Amino acid sequence: MAYDKNNIFAKILRGEIAAEKIFENEFALSIKDAFPAAPIHILVLPKGEFVNFHDFMENATPEFIAGFYKAVRQTVDAIGLNDEKGYRISMNTGKAAGQSVFHYHVHITSGFGNVGHV
Ligand code: 5GP
Repeated sequence: MAYDKNNIFAKILRGEIAAEKIFENEFALSIKDAFPAAPIHILVLPKGEFVNFHDFMENATPEFIAGFYKAVRQTVDAIGLNDEKGYRISMNTGKAAGQSVFHYHVHITSGFGNVGHV
């Protein structure tokens, strides 16, 4: 799938649409999910044109990949989460798996109690 420069996260990264910022550096912008699926629900968006995880791992440089995943951890720190509190990192790849915005992003969710997982 080709990257669509007009997807909602591209617009947020360009500052054309507002979002509640949690963390930002040269690799990533982390924002609150506008329709949270858990008490804490943050999205980490890489600052690059990648459709999904598949595309990101294929086309981002090793330095960018490392910087991006460190930004995920820095976002976890910024919101005061840790392994005691517990949090989940997830990513949907492709429409069939529930991806609805085709700019790669990582979900960080927490605060849902002791539930199972898929
Ligand atoms: P996906 O379904 O692609 O894995 O995740 C997309 C996420 O983006 C969803 O959790 C959805 O609630 C969130 N979302 C959709 N539109 C907006 C928006 O305009 N602003 C923000 N902050 N989140 C959005």
